[in-house]
Amino acid sequence: MKVVIIGSGAGGLTAASNIKKYSEKAEVTVITLENRVAYSPCAIPYVIGGEIASFDEIVMHTPEYYNEHGINIITESEAIEVVSSENIVKYKPKNDNEVILNYDYLVIATGGSPFIPPVKGTDLQGVFKVRTIEDGAKIKEWAEKSENAVVVGAGAIGLEVGYGLKELGINVSVTEMLPQILPRSFDPDMAIKVQKYLESQGINIILNQALDEILGNELAEKVVIGNNIIDVDIVILSTGIRPSIKLAKSAKCAVGKMGVKVNEKMQTSIPNIYSVGDCVEVYDGITKQKTQSPFGTTAVRQGKVAAKNITGREAVFRPVLNSVVSKIGELEIGAVGLTEISANLNGLDIIVGRSKALTKARYYPGCKPIDTKIICSKEGKILGCQIIAKETVAERVDTMALAIAKEVECEELTEMEFSYAPPVSMVVDPIVLAAEDALNKIKKDL
Ligand SMILES: Cc1cc2nc3c(=O)[nH]c(=O)nc-3n(C[C@H](O)[C@H](O)[C@H](O)COP(=O)(O)OP(=O)(O)OC[C@H]3O[C@@H](n4cnc5c(N)ncnc54)[C@H](O)[C@@H]3O)c2cc1C
Repeated sequence: MKVVIIGSGAGGLTAASNIKKYSEKAEVTVITLENRVAYSPCAIPYVIGGEIASFDEIVMHTPEYYNEHGINIITESEAIEVVSSENIVKYKPKNDNEVILNYDYLVIATGGSPFIPPVKGTDLQGVFKVRTIEDGAKIKEWAEKSENAVVVGAGAIGLEVGYGLKELGINVSVTEMLPQILPRSFDPDMAIKVQKYLESQGINIILNQALDEILGNELAEKVVIGNNIIDVDIVILSTGIRPSIKLAKSAKCAVGKMGVKVNEKMQTSIPNIYSVGDCVEVYDGITKQKTQSPFGTTAVRQGKVAAKNITGREAVFRPVLNSVVSKIGELEIGAVGLTEISANLNGLDIIVGRSKALTKARYYPGCKPIDTKIICSKEGKILGCQIIAKETVAERVDTMALAIAKEVECEELTEMEFSYAPPVSMVVDPIVLAAEDALNKIKKDL
């Protein structure tokens, strides 16, 4: 069985190594634009800020490692066309002629490309996107000779990079066209807590203003955002990604608004072509609408599902809840499921529960505040959760993801058994306190 995989990101390489795991005889070839593979893009902001010493540390394996393990990696090559009627891929190595490869199965794992706002000046020197390890290295090199930075886009990645630049001693402004930071995963009442923290760390936040223009001759010199004109040496565009669907289109795979269309086996509209990662369209587990899930965790899970199905095992990829977690400075932030705003936009009748608690027993040295918000239906079904603290956020978000996926109700959550010891938790968990608050409101409403 010959399998060709296009893309060496989390989705492509997970599919490759799992196909090899389940079928030793499979001939697996991965084609990628990049010269480095198997690195963690998620760690780029922390290398920029110096928490991780170098970009070499975030590379897990070399192409040679994969070649030794029976996976043929073709680096610095662009897949340019898929002729699905003939089961062939045409690719062009850097500085070489086009090559044709046959496949029995193809996996399109081409990821996403950064959205570049359609304004003047984004092509000036000193303006960067943040996607690949190469982007990260260029940002770090430029940042080291910079004094003033503007990060456009206040999603988690924009804030992580902004904080990293601040750690290098640079004056940082983060700008967002919407009225709050973290607009995709957090409600304004929670996002403001993160905003206040960032401001307390010296980061300037500009809301409600879109990027108008970047001014300069060859180098970026000023950023115009509404009434603000900010001097800059470096600009980071962190304005979202668009699925890379060109190759899937060339293969004549069906493509939807959010990306390549796949079924729950990660199979495209062409049966021997699978697609995984940031380039595919997925379903939201609560609203059942089509959406994107541009997360490493999603790409890895999809890669495993595709590998199992290609090698004759049964596996399905379920609709997503888009759990997100991040660490910005000392602050951990996490969210899963619907926000209050998105629930309202979807016309759902909801109740909100909140708790302000501690991460350890009140008397235990070093306990830290933890703020939790739960969104649930009037009937008590949990729909979403947002948590902010200086520790223990990710595990609680994961508990809530399981609760939402298993349709646990608020009342059941309040009855659930949680572990407890003073140095690591409170006797009543913060998420139980928030669920109790929601439950009280539901009972009052009845
Ligand atoms: C700065 C940053 C921080 C992030 N933080 C997190 C986080 O904390 N948690 C989390 O879950 N996710 C995070 N993400 C998102 C996560 O990295 C992505 O969701 C994940 O990498 C997607 O994997 P993928 O395989 O779909 O695509 P990618 O990793 O983008 O890989 C796409 C691959 O396709 C190749 N390719 C594309 N077109 C072609 C072509 N025509 N020919 C050959 N090769 C091609 C590229 O070279 C690349 O190898 C972060 C992303 C960034 C950039």
